[in-house]
Amino acid sequence: MATFKVKNKRPRFGNPRSDKHKQKPKYKKKDSRLKFSVNDEAAEITRLSEQYTTSEIDGKSKFSDFPLSKKTLQGLAQANYKIPTAIQRESILPALLGKDILAAAKTGSGKTLAFLIPIFEKLYTRQWTRLDGLGALIITPTRELALQIFEVVAKIGKHHDFTTGLIIGGQNLKFEKNRLHQLNIIICTPGRLLQHMDQNPLFDSTNLKILVLDEADRCLDMGFETAMNSIIENLPVERQTLLFSATQTKSVKDLARLNLKNPIYIAPHDSEEYTTPNRLQQNYVAIELSEKLTMLWSFLKAHPKQKIIVFFATCKQVKYFYEIFRKLRPNILLLPLYGGMNQEKRNKIYAEFCARSNVCMMSTDIASRGLDFPKVNWVVQLDCPEDATQYIHRAGRTARLNNSGESLLVVLPHEESGVVGMLEKTKVPINKINIDEKQLFSPLIKIQSFLAQSPELKEMAKRAFVAYVKSVALMKDKSVFDVSKLDLEGYAKSLGLLVTPRVRFLSKMGGKPKNVNTDVKVTLDEDDEDDDGELFTVKEQTVQKPSGPSDDLPLCAEPKKKVTKVKLLKKSLVVNKKICFDDSGHALEDAIENDVYNIEKARAQLRLADAEDKERYKNLKKARRIAKKEKLKRKAEEEDDDQFDSGEENSVDLDWLPDPDKVYSKDNLVDDKNVVSSPIEKATSRKKSSKKRKIAINVGDITLTEAERLAMNLLQ
Ligand code: ADP
Ligand code: MG
Repeated sequence: MATFKVKNKRPRFGNPRSDKHKQKPKYKKKDSRLKFSVNDEAAEITRLSEQYTTSEIDGKSKFSDFPLSKKTLQGLAQANYKIPTAIQRESILPALLGKDILAAAKTGSGKTLAFLIPIFEKLYTRQWTRLDGLGALIITPTRELALQIFEVVAKIGKHHDFTTGLIIGGQNLKFEKNRLHQLNIIICTPGRLLQHMDQNPLFDSTNLKILVLDEADRCLDMGFETAMNSIIENLPVERQTLLFSATQTKSVKDLARLNLKNPIYIAPHDSEEYTTPNRLQQNYVAIELSEKLTMLWSFLKAHPKQKIIVFFATCKQVKYFYEIFRKLRPNILLLPLYGGMNQEKRNKIYAEFCARSNVCMMSTDIASRGLDFPKVNWVVQLDCPEDATQYIHRAGRTARLNNSGESLLVVLPHEESGVVGMLEKTKVPINKINIDEKQLFSPLIKIQSFLAQSPELKEMAKRAFVAYVKSVALMKDKSVFDVSKLDLEGYAKSLGLLVTPRVRFLSKMGGKPKNVNTDVKVTLDEDDEDDDGELFTVKEQTVQKPSGPSDDLPLCAEPKKKVTKVKLLKKSLVVNKKICFDDSGHALEDAIENDVYNIEKARAQLRLADAEDKERYKNLKKARRIAKKEKLKRKAEEEDDDQFDSGEENSVDLDWLPDPDKVYSKDNLVDDKNVVSSPIEKATSRKKSSKKRKIAINVGDITLTEAERLAMNLLQ
């Protein structure tokens, strides 16, 4: 998919930043796509500018009631947008007046158009041309969201002449670099924009008139803090700023960072009973960690013809669940979406999920913000969201703008009260449902056999396991999400692992973080980063201070110490020995067992299995060789038959006929040695000369007289 678009292909006229050229947008007159003359445009702009101050929201029910340019209205009408939504109705006029806006409206309520329409109008009324450079900047937290907005701009703004560019990671930097200065509207992710700001001398934002942060609270949170601060520093202070989100930030610190001037807070749904869409049916189940996989598998089996998004906490879980479920062959198409994927693949999956109706997308929070997938029936949050905000955005991928949808949240029993309380506080109506045990189908046996066959899959399972435990350890609210309460053994087993993988940062003493006596730094790997993949986002860093004397099992020590202690540990390690300890940590003499595993026996078994395997492989190869030979033989025979058949189809075997020479020698004045005149004679003469050769005679070549003669001959 084209990720960069310059609508206006006309050549540049001189220095784009020269005032002289700015005042003379000569080339606009020549554009054949413009339906209005320059005079008409000027008159329209004057009329619109006057209406901005006199217009009132009351009584405006259609887009055409608003002071909008013909080009914008035409674009809206062609896309079938006639009646503005609540947020559009309330924010368009203040935005046209140049006010800074802080807008909060439910997911799927039409915020995109609420900021795009003012952008078109602002640039249009200023007669913005390509020479004016960057006029509007839209920043979003994810690449897919940027792409989606870019598509809406292309659809609604097609009658305008602004050049629009999509600047996201994973694209050709050089290509973007050379064209960046020509763009009037840029839609971007923070990381990539900053890269251009730092490295591209052609990037110039001095003319910028309007800055939009879509999913503003996410753009301004910790993950993007450094990038956003640097971006804001590089933008002109004199500009209009619009912030949009379903969960708007009201943090004074955030607003101060953006230099907002008397911002208007617009929240059309604030007075409503709930913060989530009215037609969203929200349920939750409380199940053990070890049952999650079975539950999801059974859920997919029970909802075969639906469009579903399943949210996981980390990339590694998505990878593993996708791979293992794919092998289990569900009757629904599975698509994975996560940050570590290359952009081309991400775009493809995004497009495929948009287009299909019987599909399940397994995703990280990369898809939780802003994406407007059409007709999603279900959102399943298999791993619990960190907070109500994350929950609202994930669930908001369904039931968009007057459509209905269902959401299912999966919580662990010990998280239930905390999570439900958190949601209720944020005005999220959610009902508990119980799962009918009879409806659960465990695919565990199959999964175990897949893992036994594939070391890669086993490795993936281990990684998924560790990544999940880490993600829980990184949750902010420790009173709700307690890593020590996780049934690690059960979870590992449910993933098909026979041995519970070691999680480095957890103390062996019952897995209780409180007992960890060394500093614990838990961070997500780069691969687990969920946003636009450009920034290494760490949700939170948990550093637990030493709480007691040094532990005997320093699994969580700082890197330097860890190396030395691991070495020490290795030194005193006796292989194949099991020691049991009492509660106070003393080794129990009678519980020391040597030779826990009989290695020799195991080796012998392995050798036997190996020999059997080799024998089986040899037999298999032999059988294949024989089969191949037989096949070739059969083929050769068939070919022979074919030759014979095909010859017979078109030829007449005349061996049994009486010698026609005898019949015709008197009538025909043709000598044996001369050219035979009739096909029959031709055939018989050849037959004579070589008995082995088959002679093809086309029956169609025989004339009626010849046929009669032949019949006569036969009768004789
Ligand atoms: P939000 O950003 O609030 O989550 P979007 O801007 O993605 O919502 O819009 C949600 C859906 O509503 C989109 O499919 C969009 O096409 C549709 N939509 C937006 N505004 C209108 C409108 N005025 N009339 C009809 N459909 C609209
Ligand atoms: Mg949006």
